[in-house]
Amino acid sequence: MRHAQLQQIAALDNSEDRGIVAYFSMEIAVEPTMPTYSGGLGVLAGDTLRAAADMGLPLAAITLAHRQGYFRQHLDASGIQTEESQPWDIEALLTPQSPTVTVKIEGRPVVIRAWRHDVIGVTGHTIPIYFLDTNVEQNDPRDRELTDHLYGGDGDYRLRQEVVLGIGGARMLEALEYRPVVYHMNEGHAALLTIALLEKQLFGSPLEAADEKTVESVRRRCVFTTHTPVPAGHDRFSAEQSNRILGVERTKVFERLGCFHDDLLNMTYIALRFARYVNGVAMQHGKVSREMFPDYKIDAITNGVHAATWTAPSFQSTFDRHMPRWRQDNLSLRYAIDIPEAEIEQAHQDAKSVLIAAVKERTGVELRPNIFTLGFARRAATYKRCDLLFTDPERLVKAAHDFGGLQILYSGKAHPADEPGKAKIRRVIELAQELDSADLTIVYLENYEWILGALLTGGVDLWLNTPKRPYEASGTSGMKAALNGVPSLSILDGWWIEGWIEGVTGWAIADHDDDAGEAGSLYDHLEQVILPLYYHQPEQWKRIMRSTIALNGSFFNTQRMIEQYVLNAYFPEQRMDHSAAALEPILAR
Ligand SMILES: *Cc1c(COP(=O)(O)O)cnc(C)c1O
Repeated sequence: MRHAQLQQIAALDNSEDRGIVAYFSMEIAVEPTMPTYSGGLGVLAGDTLRAAADMGLPLAAITLAHRQGYFRQHLDASGIQTEESQPWDIEALLTPQSPTVTVKIEGRPVVIRAWRHDVIGVTGHTIPIYFLDTNVEQNDPRDRELTDHLYGGDGDYRLRQEVVLGIGGARMLEALEYRPVVYHMNEGHAALLTIALLEKQLFGSPLEAADEKTVESVRRRCVFTTHTPVPAGHDRFSAEQSNRILGVERTKVFERLGCFHDDLLNMTYIALRFARYVNGVAMQHGKVSREMFPDYKIDAITNGVHAATWTAPSFQSTFDRHMPRWRQDNLSLRYAIDIPEAEIEQAHQDAKSVLIAAVKERTGVELRPNIFTLGFARRAATYKRCDLLFTDPERLVKAAHDFGGLQILYSGKAHPADEPGKAKIRRVIELAQELDSADLTIVYLENYEWILGALLTGGVDLWLNTPKRPYEASGTSGMKAALNGVPSLSILDGWWIEGWIEGVTGWAIADHDDDAGEAGSLYDHLEQVILPLYYHQPEQWKRIMRSTIALNGSFFNTQRMIEQYVLNAYFPEQRMDHSAAALEPILAR
């Protein structure tokens, strides 16, 4: 990182004034034992904090306690999903903090307390995460449940939660004596922190006194990352909900500042209006976001994954032997290009055996280590098209037969309210049973979460991703696979547009306007390129595994990502400005 940024960070890391970057996220995957995340957004937040800890960034994070977790998924034999809540022992795993803060929700005062968990980096630097909790005796019973369910309840519940996260979080940091210099909103859920900053800036004057100057002083401190390429994915609330839950004054100010769209209070517009820097999460997503929000300047910083977290133990030892400082310096994964093919192959076979053992334990199904194994695991949202691979089942069966075997591992939860997503899971499970034969084994593993994600991206031979363009903002599971030498076969969307080098890091499914065309390209790749390589040119396959690590593992990690946030989002004042206007005073000397 450049010298100027390092100096700025060093100046911040002065515990006297507790100047920090404050990172707000509705979900954070902190530990596999803590069910405080639902999927990609939470995993990204956790990986961001792990990388920030490794790099010694002065940062603190705010999230909600989610005492009942997200949900545990059960699938019956016919593929019907049922959900179970996941209460966890926050008293045993987190440290209570003494300050409490109060926010007003629906006219009622709601007391919020915080619990702390530390993320400790490779060099011992600590990043605190504060989990906000409204399960406090003084609170109305309705409010005591506000920090129980991640993405549970109705719109009212969500808006109340966002008051706790945004307004409660900003006040809690204040009460804990932090003086953040940057507030990072990880997705629009945290957008209400801006109203807390605005209110503070007014020193007790009513909100209607807020002018462009007051807004600007809030903007100077706020950074916003948008994650959703679909308008319907952005949180929106009616004026009635806003008036009732947030209050008339706040609603008026949001109206005046243009945060209502189609008569709905839109969290993304609040964040856009109040952030001095906005980014999407891959180059393509930046472009889609600029088209969606043409009045705003939107940059892009491509997501990453925390390398040490998502590298299988066998590859960790391999990297330790060849690039001993890869955990401190992820760029050194580039030197994986010198690791002998035999060692790559051995590390992969070890990771594959671990996966095969886990599948046996969970399902009783015995997979074979020398059979090509394809992995597909992600949220069962319809745009992810988990059934694209089954568009022409006969072709799949024939390929499996012709090459002497194919194993397919599936996993993924559907949001409890997502009936079409649940139908997709049933369809895949039905087909798995129908097509099961000596040559083709398909297993749907229930309850996709962190550990299963690590096993799958570590141990399959190919990672498949078939989203409908342009709905995949980034995607990160393919990056986890890359760290383990697992190439991707994917639609050119999200991060894959940047990570794809045909035949070197994986393969691209050709763009078509219809599902059938894209499925055709998928089969073509399997039959004509991928299966022949795997079964008949093993030396070439090992080289692909190796270049996948060297090229994509070294770049698509959260260490590189955080450096880009520091350079472009957190401390951009330090950026060299080569514009003619900026050079004028220098040239005039
Ligand atoms: C990495 C991960 C995700 C996100 O992966 P995508 O490629 O964005 O689908 C979701 N859930 C779990 C459990 C993960 O580990």
